[in-house]
Amino acid sequence: MPRITEEIALASPSPGTRRSLKVHRYGTPGARPKAYFHAALHADEWPGLLTLNHLIGLLDAADAEGRIAGEIVLLPYANPIGLSQHHHGYNTGRFASDGGGNFNRHWPDLTDAAMERLDGKIGKDPAANDEMVRAALKAAAADLPRRTELEILKATLLSLSTGADMVFDVHCDDVSMMHLYAHKNHRDEVMTLAGDMQSPVVLLEDDPDDLPFDSANTAPWVRIKRRLGLDEALPDGCFATTVELRGHNDVMDDLARSDAAGLFRHLMRRGVVAGDPGPLVAAPCEATPLEGMDVLRAPGTGIVAWRHEIGTRVEAGELMAELVDIEADDPAAARTPIHSRASGLFFARKADTLARPGDQIGKIAGAEPLSHRQAGSLLSP
Ligand SMILES: [Zn+2]
Repeated sequence: MPRITEEIALASPSPGTRRSLKVHRYGTPGARPKAYFHAALHADEWPGLLTLNHLIGLLDAADAEGRIAGEIVLLPYANPIGLSQHHHGYNTGRFASDGGGNFNRHWPDLTDAAMERLDGKIGKDPAANDEMVRAALKAAAADLPRRTELEILKATLLSLSTGADMVFDVHCDDVSMMHLYAHKNHRDEVMTLAGDMQSPVVLLEDDPDDLPFDSANTAPWVRIKRRLGLDEALPDGCFATTVELRGHNDVMDDLARSDAAGLFRHLMRRGVVAGDPGPLVAAPCEATPLEGMDVLRAPGTGIVAWRHEIGTRVEAGELMAELVDIEADDPAAARTPIHSRASGLFFARKADTLARPGDQIGKIAGAEPLSHRQAGSLLSP
């Protein structure tokens, strides 16, 4: 069945302007497993735009050979609102400039609305329960409020992803190695993906409160299961992951081609696309808990002079950088050390080296939970 492409209009935000989403659909609607992809929900993060562009080529070729076994929904860009935001020559696509906040936080929680629809219907059969929960979540997503342009964007994306068996929200960091976020219940799946993509970092979350897009897809399953005490009677029906494709400037055909091939391999491994993915190569890392990740902060304002490159393994207590107070009269007394509190891989840092007080400037993935890192909270507002 050939790919179907549709355009979904958002509400016009001002006279004479209108934005829209583009949706590519592969396979038979309703076929399983279903996979959902979009890129640049944070609209200033562009590696995923090129990677999905390559993935579309691979999917078109597989489609022409009749190899789409499940269903695939792919949006080449998730956030036309953010893509259109510029300030003095720079795209500012992480936060909605009309006050709507971080585009990847505070997504609607479908749990309560789905629970109302499930009232008294859940039994002991996992497959039947899976279908009922999937249908209840889809109905709940269809009922989301759609008053503002941003609400329409969020309701549309969540309606398209809800019901999928796997959801890939493709982002990037500032200066960074590839890393994957997923719920801890999906450790096996995310480690398989890490093998297919050779991701050197996997971070496991435990139901974060501030509901980024991946959690908005996973959390209702986790929460319904917990509230109804279902355990084995309800599968973890949606594996959702935030795929951080390295750094902001890592936009190159070679990387995008190889990342698209990794995603495509994973689709074959999961039976969404027919074909031989080849033997699973082990992930080049162990999964580490989100609360084991140290987030280095600037203790004041100044220039951050790094002592290590990303990709370095460091020990707790290690000197990572010095903050140089450029207002100090004595350069010898201008330096404040910044140490790692985790032992692990230094995998990401801020591109800007002129820090403001409290800025998050670096990330180290450690295996041991850190006392100052709160479980269930993400990194930034
Ligand atoms: Zn992002």
